[in-house]
Order: sequence, then C-alpha cells, then structure tokens
Amino acid sequence: MQHNQARGPFKGGLRFHPSVSLDEVRALAQLMTWKTALVDIPFGGAKGGIAVDTNQLSQHALEILTKHFVQKMAPVFGVHHDIPAPDVGTNPQVMAWILAEYSKTHGFTPAIVTGKPLELGGSAGRLQATGHGVAHITGLVASDLSLDLEGAPVVIQGFGNVGLHTARSLAAMGARVIALSDIRGGIYCDAGIDIGRAERHVAEAGRLEGLSGTEPIRNAELLELPCDVLIPAAIEATVDCDNADAIQARIVVEAANAPVTHMADRTLHDRGITVVPDVLANSGGVIVSYYEWVQNLQEFPWELDTVLRRLEQRLGQVYEQVRDCSHQHRTDLRTAAYELAIGRVNQAIALRGF
Ligand code: NAD
Repeated sequence: MQHNQARGPFKGGLRFHPSVSLDEVRALAQLMTWKTALVDIPFGGAKGGIAVDTNQLSQHALEILTKHFVQKMAPVFGVHHDIPAPDVGTNPQVMAWILAEYSKTHGFTPAIVTGKPLELGGSAGRLQATGHGVAHITGLVASDLSLDLEGAPVVIQGFGNVGLHTARSLAAMGARVIALSDIRGGIYCDAGIDIGRAERHVAEAGRLEGLSGTEPIRNAELLELPCDVLIPAAIEATVDCDNADAIQARIVVEAANAPVTHMADRTLHDRGITVVPDVLANSGGVIVSYYEWVQNLQEFPWELDTVLRRLEQRLGQVYEQVRDCSHQHRTDLRTAAYELAIGRVNQAIALRGF
C-alpha cells in the first residue's frame, strides 16, 4: 500500500502476520509518511503485508511465498520508487530473499530493500536501530522530566527485534528492566532481569516463561505494573480504554506502531502520563534504513560507530524540535510531532505543484 511520495520514494515495512488486513496496512502506510517526514529523511510512506502465520510454514515455504510476492511486486518496487523493509514477522533473511529475487531480473540491486543481512549490503546497526533509538529517546524524555534512569523500573511488552534491543540498550543505560513479555506470556523480577539470560532462554525454550529467578506474569497484568517507564513493543492497541486507567507508569514510550489507542491516549494525557508517540519513538529503524540505502547507493559501508552516532544525533535534533513545538503550542508530543510532519509533507506537495 503506497500512501505518499511527495518527499521521496515510498518506504515502509513488510508484515507477515495472521491479522494483516487492508485497513491495517493502509493505516501503517500513512504512519510511515508522517514518520519519514518527522525525522526529515527523503522518503514517503508505504507498507506491505501478507496475512500468514509464519510459525506454520517451513523456511522453504516461507522463501517460496516471499519470492512469489516479489515476482508480483517487482513492477511496483524500485530503488527510487518503493523500498520495502522488515516489520513484524519478517527479518533480514526475508529481506535477503527479496533482494535475490529482484536482482534476478534487475542485476544486483542492494538498495531495493533495507534491513538486509550485512553480507548482502545491510548496514551495521540496522538490527538494533529501532530498539536503540527507543532507548535513546526514552533517555532524553526522562532527563527532561528529571527522572534518573539509573535503577529506574522499566516494563517492556514484546521481546522481538524491537523489544529485545530496547531492553538491551536501556539495561546498558542503567535502567532496571523488571518485566518482559512475548505473545505467550511474560516474566517479572523486581531486582531486574538479565537481558542476555532472557535472550538465551528464548533461543533454547522458544518462550520467555520459565526463566529461572523470574515469576510468570500475564500480558494484561504486566501492562499495569507500577514502573517509571512502560514500553509497549509488540503490536497495535495493547493499551486501550479498558486498561488506560490502570497504567501506573510515568512515561509510556510507543516502541510498537500504534500500541496506544486514541481514547487511551486521551486518558493517559489527562492523568499526567507522558506518551512518547510511535512516529518519534520507533523512528530509529527507518533512519538507519535510510543510512543503509545511502550506503548501498554510494557502495561504501559505514562503521557501526558512525551509524549509531548519526542516529543519536538525528534523534536528538528531532526530539528537540518536537518538544519545542509542544511547548510553543501547549500540546502533547504526538500533536506536536504530527504538526511538524504534516507541515513538511504539505510543503513538499505545494512546492511540486500539480
Ligand atoms: P517481532 O515480530 O520481531 O516481535 C514482536 C514481539 O511481540 C514478539 O515477541 C511477539 O511474541 C510479541 N507479540 C506479538 N503479539 C503479541 C501480543 N498480542 N501480546 C504480547 N506480545 C505479542 O516484531 P518487531 O519488529 O519487534 O516489531 C514490534 C513492533 O514495532 C511492531 O508494532 C512494528 O510495527 C514496530 N516497529 C518495528 C520496527 C523494526 O525495525 N522492526 C520499526 C518500527 C516499528
């Protein structure tokens, strides 16, 4: 689904999940338009999806599905037209298959897709970019609210690409990650969870539950734990009007796309809880996707330090713009972010003429 290309080629993730629908993909494509505009990278907004449960497919079946999808989509994709990326249920391996299939008819074209493995032109830092960015933005917001992250209790829902790397980066910043979850359920430990141990446990057991030294907790309970920072990093609408009144965090950081519903957002705002909107909070992924595309076009890879330094610099600048705009117009961060993003898209459309 292509939403807007006024500021540059269509850009967005490809989602493989049983609940994918046209409406969901349409909404996510629009979100990408505002996100790329907010962080001021020369892309528009798009999203793709296949309603499929990848857990039911062998790797071979997944490869066939992906490559057939690329055959159908090849006329739509293009280095300067439409550049897919990973999202829920897709990963660097799926991006590698996209590159391979597209390159069969177009010659080796690494810039056609981002989030690739390093061996095929991926960028250093892309895998951790979204989570690292979420943690960096959390640090900036916490500091503005005079909240010291050292030892601060943090709760994270979702332990996939975004949740894992957010947890790792926040733990490295000194935060105490007291609860984590995946689709099957969660774990809790007030003293703080060792993220490396949790990762190894998931690799062996296929789930978080059962990690020694932790107690099991249901996803619904986890969201309502007392904490300084709550990070929904799984899917849409996990914080809604049924649980918004019970959220006990000072800051809610939208690492997932649209995890807080519109009504819940109002409730949290009225209760004085700061919500960091998805367009800002999880934009690290598309920023480093842009860096990956630039490196592919230049055929010149950057070092990890360069990627992360540029990512943090860019996020810092964008956060300051959003915060200043919210102060100036006395609005929340989401309204300010949309004001900046929509303004930029509007300006590009006006400048291009008919
Ligand atoms: P992923 O597939 O790697 O991980 C998703 C995680 O959420 C898994 O741990 C899964 O078990 C868990 N989960 C799924 N359904 C759940 C439910 N109903 N309750 C609790 N947990 C559930 O996906 P990801 O790439 O980490 O993406 C997570 C979110 O972040 C999505 O909203 C995605 O759109 C958004 N996002 C991802 C990126 C990226 O670079 N990967 C960038 C921007 C935004």
